[in-house]
Amino acid sequence: MDLGLKGRIAIVTGAGRGIGFAIADRLLREGAHVIGVDREFAPDWKLTFSECLRQSVECFVCDVSNGEKLLELASIVDKKHGKLDILVNSAGINHNAPLGAINFAVAEEVFAVNLSGPLKTMNIFRNLLMQSDQGRVVNIGSVNGQRARRGQSVYNASKAGVGLATLTAALEFARKKVTCNVVAPGLIDTAMTQKMDPKAKEVAMELILFDRRGLPEEVASAVAFLCSKEAAYITGHVLTVDGGMSLS
Ligand code: NDP
Repeated sequence: MDLGLKGRIAIVTGAGRGIGFAIADRLLREGAHVIGVDREFAPDWKLTFSECLRQSVECFVCDVSNGEKLLELASIVDKKHGKLDILVNSAGINHNAPLGAINFAVAEEVFAVNLSGPLKTMNIFRNLLMQSDQGRVVNIGSVNGQRARRGQSVYNASKAGVGLATLTAALEFARKKVTCNVVAPGLIDTAMTQKMDPKAKEVAMELILFDRRGLPEEVASAVAFLCSKEAAYITGHVLTVDGGMSLS
C-alpha cells in the first residue's frame, strides 16, 4: 500500500536507536526524507540504512530539552524545505523508583525529555508544520501513561502528560488539518527494556496476551500509518501497540 509519504520531510527524535531508529528506517523506506535527532549517533548510524536510502537521511545532534538547538534545526529546515510534514517525538528516558526513593534530579530530566521535549518541538516546529498540506505529529507515549504502576509515578506522569499535550495540540492544529496522535507502546524489545529490573519485566510479561515483547518495527508500522495519507481524518487518538497488555 502506498502510504503517500514520498518526499515528505520528517523529523524523528530519539532516532539513534530503538523505536526512534525503527521509525526513521520505516519512514525512509516509505520514501520520506528523514532528519534524525538524538543526543548522539553511532559513527556508523547512516550505514545501517540501506545504501539507496542514505541520501534521504540526515542526523542532527541535539538534546530535545535544548530549545536553542531546536530553534537552530527549525531554521535549517525552514531554509532547506520551507515546511515540515512529519514530527515524531520518540526520545525518552525512564526512572523507576517508589515514592520515598525518587531522585528528583533524574525525575526532572525525565520530565524535561519525555514531556517538555515534545512540547518544545511542537511549539518550535508549529509554523513549519502548518506550511504542510499533510502535517502529522506522532508522539510516543506509553500504555503506562494511562494506568498506575508501582514505582513508576515519574515515568507514567511524564507519559500521561505527553498524552494530554498531544490531544491539546490536535485541537490547536485542527484549523490547518495537521493531525496529532499518540502511539502508546507496551513492552518493546529495546535497550530501555533490556535495562529493566528482571522482576518488573517478569510482572510486565505476565500481562502481555501475545506472550512476547513487541518489536520496534511493530511500533514503527503504527507510526507510519498515522503519518500516511490514509490517516488524514484521524486526530487526537491514542493508538496502543502492546500485544493486548492493557487488556489484562
Ligand atoms: P531507547 O532507550 O532504546 O532509545 C531512546 C533514544 O532516545 C536513545 O537513542 C536516546 O539517546 C534518545 N534520547 C534520550 N534522551 C534524549 C534527549 N534528551 N535528546 C535526544 N535524544 C534522547 O528507548 P526506546 O526506543 O525503547 O524508547 C523510545 C520511546 O518509546 C521513549 O519515549 C519511551 O519512553 C517509549 N516507550 C518505550 C517502551 C519500551 O518498552 N521500549 C514502552 C513504552 C514507551 P541516548 O543513547 O543518548 O540515551
